[in-house]
Amino acid sequence: MKTILITGGAGFIGSNFVKLMLDRHPEYKTINIDALTYAGNLETLKDIDTNPNYEFIKADIRNREQIEDIFRNNEITAVVNFAAESHVDRSIEDPEIFLTTNILGTQVLLDTAKKYWKIDPADKYSTDYKPGVKFLQVSTDEVYGALGETGMFVETMPLMPNSPYSASKASADMIVRAYHETYGMPVNITRCSNNYGPYQFPEKLIPLMINNCLEEKDLPVYGDGMQVRDWLHVSDHCAAIDTVLHKGIDGEVYNIGGNNEKSNIELVKLIISILGKSEDLIKHVKDRPGHDRRYAIDNTKITTELGWTPAYTFEQGIKETIQWYLDNNEWAENILSGEYANYYDEMYNKA
Ligand code: NAD
Repeated sequence: MKTILITGGAGFIGSNFVKLMLDRHPEYKTINIDALTYAGNLETLKDIDTNPNYEFIKADIRNREQIEDIFRNNEITAVVNFAAESHVDRSIEDPEIFLTTNILGTQVLLDTAKKYWKIDPADKYSTDYKPGVKFLQVSTDEVYGALGETGMFVETMPLMPNSPYSASKASADMIVRAYHETYGMPVNITRCSNNYGPYQFPEKLIPLMINNCLEEKDLPVYGDGMQVRDWLHVSDHCAAIDTVLHKGIDGEVYNIGGNNEKSNIELVKLIISILGKSEDLIKHVKDRPGHDRRYAIDNTKITTELGWTPAYTFEQGIKETIQWYLDNNEWAENILSGEYANYYDEMYNKA
């Protein structure tokens, strides 16, 4: 049996991916490790708690001893690294934890995966021989920096990150690449555009707007709201990662995106109209420093070389997502009343 180690599986995308792996690959054991920061939530995973192929371990990817123990006690065949500090606004307020988690944490995982390579000499002569633990780094299109009015991100572009968050993710990408070039580790890097869907932490744009709309609170829009993002449903992102995990060529980077560009203001107005609220709720606030103007992903490589295509249209995905938040009010309520309430006050209710 193969054992997949998923890090950050109590977060938004990681939890969706854990569920996809259990559904699609009942022949695998799936181990989820997560430090359960403010963004990690075991409530999200309660429906799979008793699945015999699933195990949760509370662990911090920066803690070498904990990570070594996990590798020593399990025959890990692949690592998919989602664990990260992921919110750009928080990285502007306090960059350090972004550097320790996103960069040093990734390096601890790589080092340990390298140490626990299990090379079966018999396999060496098989045509699909792969040396050791596959390492898939989940990265972001933000590492490329910002685009002008036209053009798209392709995998060969130089990395020009603009926020502490994207700089930390770009650094991790470089280290993953180096472990492939230097030690021959079988790695892949995926760079995905903005995700939306169920179980997203309410500080991110789409759940923030849905929750505020439902409560008829101000909808804070940075600057003129003309920043453009390329949106992808989380289940399409997870399916793409599964594809790369199984079919990706070692050492390759794959962009993931759904050709779905929307300006922030367009998106906010769409949510308002689906929920039947008033555009008077929109409140333009001071723009985020260093705010990238436009992202757009060229997904030609993953679609043509690996055969992945997104299943969701944005129109269908956003309606389902809004319905999910309506149906799962309790999940959001628990978060909205915790540490997040203080953070929200600090960010948006400052005098
Ligand atoms: P998230 O913030 O919802 O989840 C991150 C998870 O990592 C949380 O469960 C948290 O507890 C865990 N974590 C944080 N520090 C940890 C540590 N030191 N050790 C172990 N666990 C730790 O983030 P997300 O939106 O699900 O993003 C997951 C990954 O995907 C990130 O690497 C992010 O950079 C990348 N990504 C996100 C998007 C997006 O739109 N959300 C787009 C592209 C790429």
